[in-house]
Amino acid sequence: MEESGISKGKKAFSRRDFFKITGAAGLGSIFATMGNLAAASDKSDSKNSGPVTVPTRPFGKTGVNVSILAFGGSQNLESKQRLLRQAVKMGVTYWDTARTYAGGTSEEAMGKYFDRYPDDRKKIFLVTKTPSSDPDRMTRHLETSLKRLKTSHIDLFFIHRVSDVRDEVNRTTKAWAERAKEKGKIRFFGFSTHKNMEECLLEGAKLGWIDGIMTSYNYRLMHKDSMKRAVDACVEAGIGLTAMKTQAGFFASFYANIGKENETVLKLTERFMEKGFTPEQAKLKAVWENPHIASVCSEMSNMTMLQANVAAAIGKTKLSFQDKRLLEQYARETASGYCAGCANLCESAVEGNIPISDVLRYLMYYDNYGNHEQAVRLFNEIPSITRRRLAGFDYSKAEHLCPQKMPIAKLMGKAVEKFTKYAMG
Ligand code: SF4
Repeated sequence: MEESGISKGKKAFSRRDFFKITGAAGLGSIFATMGNLAAASDKSDSKNSGPVTVPTRPFGKTGVNVSILAFGGSQNLESKQRLLRQAVKMGVTYWDTARTYAGGTSEEAMGKYFDRYPDDRKKIFLVTKTPSSDPDRMTRHLETSLKRLKTSHIDLFFIHRVSDVRDEVNRTTKAWAERAKEKGKIRFFGFSTHKNMEECLLEGAKLGWIDGIMTSYNYRLMHKDSMKRAVDACVEAGIGLTAMKTQAGFFASFYANIGKENETVLKLTERFMEKGFTPEQAKLKAVWENPHIASVCSEMSNMTMLQANVAAAIGKTKLSFQDKRLLEQYARETASGYCAGCANLCESAVEGNIPISDVLRYLMYYDNYGNHEQAVRLFNEIPSITRRRLAGFDYSKAEHLCPQKMPIAKLMGKAVEKFTKYAMG
């Protein structure tokens, strides 16, 4: 097994030290530092003296190889041109953005970058998304994206947030995609999904003309039989797959007073740090262990996160059987704090189109990602008549059906309270 610089020094790092450091600097800092060290270690071990870059994998049957780590643009990138430059240098050449990200400024910031470094555009596999499946709106949105991104074409164009393929992707969509390809405005077409993912993957595979799908996929979801079947169907259909939401955090603040899972978190942290990587890096590695996942999209908002993720992508240390068991234990113990996106179950159990899984996802953006603005903006897109019903609604039937055994009523109440308070300033 590869020995990293970190693992060599592990004995000096005790549980007490961990608490001391994380207490003073926060988990993010210590993990980021570990990521830097891992990157440096792997570089020094490399026989190749050239720059170490992220490996690539084939993206379905497109004939294109993409970097296994994708730069997630769901953030304000206006002042992050150096971060984009560094991503390219490290081989993170799959860039993901969307019309709606950061109010449109994500696309604009990438466009500013391509304007300044036109040669880099040729290196980038560029993805953007439209929230609409209406052909006229898709055309308008594509034109706006091309202008904002200052590019002649999009490599992969997605319909964003598909939750029912039969409803949202049809023959008209296919004709639209073919026309856009003929005009050279897009190279490939597909959709993203984080709601009813398994059904969407299966239905997408049946269509026979989808090039790529971006789906929620992580150490919690990847072992489900239904997910395995869905991924297999896409592989069979030659669809390129990108994983997102790979950290699959749970509502920690909601469970702050429960001790068991905190112990597992500690065990996870200590174990992975001894091996030279962080739990965050381990969660990425878990996904990359499936060779059918072409790329993992991660929102890396600073250099240390970029370096840590790149270190995970190029590092040769594999997860052991025990590591995977520990991740699975953690997933089990925190299951009731993670929404698995199986909205067909809970939302069909309650009357009146209550978007349970959407609201829980927005709460995750708010709580786990600290992305308050995005969470509240998405929440406010829910019709006000529905929003007013969310708190205090009877979710007992939904809770009964929820395979994760989530306390849906409490979490929905919490979400409404937080989003309303934030919106009121
Ligand atoms: S609340 Fe439960 S049933 Fe509903 S989507 Fe989330 S995990 Fe699935």
